[in-house]
Amino acid sequence: MSHSPSADNAFAGNPLDRASHLRNRADWLAERLTAPATLIVPVWRTRPFVTGGRRPEIGWLRPGVIDDLAAGGETVFLGMHGDVAHFALEIPADRDPEKTGPLVGLGNFADLRQAVAVMDPGEASILAQAKAMIDWHARHRFCAVCGAPSEARSAGYSRTCTSQACKAEHFPRTDPVVIMLATRGDKALLGRQKMFPPGMYSALAGFVEPGETIEEAVRREVKEEAGIEVGAVRYHSTQPWPFPSSLMIGCLAEATSEVIELDGEELEDARWVDRETLARSMAGDRSAGIFVPPSFAIAHMLVKAWVEEG
Ligand SMILES: [Zn+2]
Repeated sequence: MSHSPSADNAFAGNPLDRASHLRNRADWLAERLTAPATLIVPVWRTRPFVTGGRRPEIGWLRPGVIDDLAAGGETVFLGMHGDVAHFALEIPADRDPEKTGPLVGLGNFADLRQAVAVMDPGEASILAQAKAMIDWHARHRFCAVCGAPSEARSAGYSRTCTSQACKAEHFPRTDPVVIMLATRGDKALLGRQKMFPPGMYSALAGFVEPGETIEEAVRREVKEEAGIEVGAVRYHSTQPWPFPSSLMIGCLAEATSEVIELDGEELEDARWVDRETLARSMAGDRSAGIFVPPSFAIAHMLVKAWVEEG
C-alpha cells in the first residue's frame, strides 16, 4: 500500500480484505458463520465489544457464543484476513449483555470515540466499519420511500423494501464533511464550539451539501462560520468518522480576508493563531494559551501538517 497522509489518520488502515465478491454467496456466508475459525465482534447500542483494560483489543468471539444474545440482530460480513472470515453481529438494544449472558466478565462494550485514542489503529479501523454498518441498520429499519419494513441483503451491505409494490434498495451511507484549516501567511484560523473543553480550538468543519464540490463547501463553511473569504483549496487527507457515518475530508485553505465575523451559531469564538504559538501548543506547552484536538482527530493532523510546512 502506498503511503499517503490519510494512512496516518485514526480509523484508517483497515487490514481486512472486504471481499465484496463474496457478499451475495448465501451458502458460503452461512457456512462461515458457523465455521470454528470465524471471528465475530458483537456491537450493542453502537458500542463494539472489546477486551483488555487500558489498551483495549477487539473482543473477537468464535461462532455460537452469542447466538441467543444476538437473535434478531443484524449480521454484517466485515471481510477476510487470510482464510478467516470476520463478521459483526448486532445484539438488539433491548438486551443487556453487560448484566446477563456469556459476555459478562469477558470485556465491555466501548465508546469507540474514546477507545480509538488508545487502540491499535488497524483494530480501531475494523471497529469503525463494524460500528458504522450496524448503526446504519439500526437507523434504517424502514423503507425511506414507502415506510414499509426493509430487510438486510448482501451480507449487510444493502437493505431492500419488503413491500412488493416498492422493492426499493437502500445502501449504507457515507456523509462527506469538509474540515479545513484556513491560513493566511503565518496565521491559521481556529474556532471553538461551546461544547469544547475550555481552551480547545479546532479547524472549522461542515457537511458538504448536495450539488456542491469540496472546494465550494470549504469556501461556504469558512465564510458562513467566520466571515472569512477563501481562495485556493488544497486536499490533504481523509478520515472515516463513524459518528454516525461521516467521511472527513481534510483541506488546507488559503484565506483572502482577515476580519472575522462570527455567525453566532456554530462557533462561540474564532481567532487567528500564529504558527509559532501552534507549534508550542502541539509540543504540549501550556503557555501557548490554547490547545488543539488530540492526534486521533484529523484537525490535529491538519494543524500538524501546516506547522511542519513552516
Ligand atoms: Zn418501500
